[in-house]
Amino acid sequence: MEAALLLIFALFGAAVGSFLNVCIDRLPAGRSLLFPPSHCDVCQHPLAPRDLIPIFSYLWLRRRCRYCQALIPWRPLWVEIASGGLLALTYWHFGLSTQFATTALYGWLFIVIGVIDLEHQLILNKIVFPAAAFALVTSIMVPPSGILYFSLPWPWAGLVSGVMGAATGFIFLLIPFILSLIVYRQEGMGFGDVKMAGLIGLVTGFPLVLLALLSGAILGGLVASVLLLLRVKSRKEAIPFGPFLSLTTIATLLWGNDFLSWYLGLFQF
Ligand SMILES: [Zn+2]
Repeated sequence: MEAALLLIFALFGAAVGSFLNVCIDRLPAGRSLLFPPSHCDVCQHPLAPRDLIPIFSYLWLRRRCRYCQALIPWRPLWVEIASGGLLALTYWHFGLSTQFATTALYGWLFIVIGVIDLEHQLILNKIVFPAAAFALVTSIMVPPSGILYFSLPWPWAGLVSGVMGAATGFIFLLIPFILSLIVYRQEGMGFGDVKMAGLIGLVTGFPLVLLALLSGAILGGLVASVLLLLRVKSRKEAIPFGPFLSLTTIATLLWGNDFLSWYLGLFQF
């Protein structure tokens, strides 16, 4: 029964992943999410329902368009797999609960933000601002992460955690952003990353925002060093920070509180 539910969530999540792919394709170009319906980017042929079954169509067609045989990139497939895996993993971790719902929604949001940043080096205001408004309202209803706020009455616990998290995240990246403007006279990271850090704080709350940002910086630094060492990337090429922040934010939403209780437990004798 449990296995069947996990499979259903994975398939449903993969179907959501197809929609995430549409968002990733169209939002940076300012195109409508609804019109025109899905079509091949190369031959413009409209796609039939049998071409749109998540993951499976992709594998049956061996990554090729049914109509013009053009090779389809890998990204739609791995976004569908990640999106389905995320929903199944979140259900497995939280069970049916509000945290399950918010973690899945935010996880999908950060997949879209992270992949767009990976492909375009862009973090879009038209995603970050509405998401921040949604997260602010949600923070009132969903119990906050972290342990500092449980004594506060509703609705203050969630609001304080979210707003403190947002301010912390924003300032945490604003400082290096300004320093690199002063010292190197150029942007070390985009201002989009700073706004994204604010959104992350709103979503994870305080103090978990620090976990998400610090582990994102460490992960990004490690991957960037490896890419430079292997000469995959040159020193002059920008490596976007958003994808790493997205990954560690999703991990923080899933396991941040577990990590925090374990960490604080180390100091209780
Ligand atoms: Zn085609």
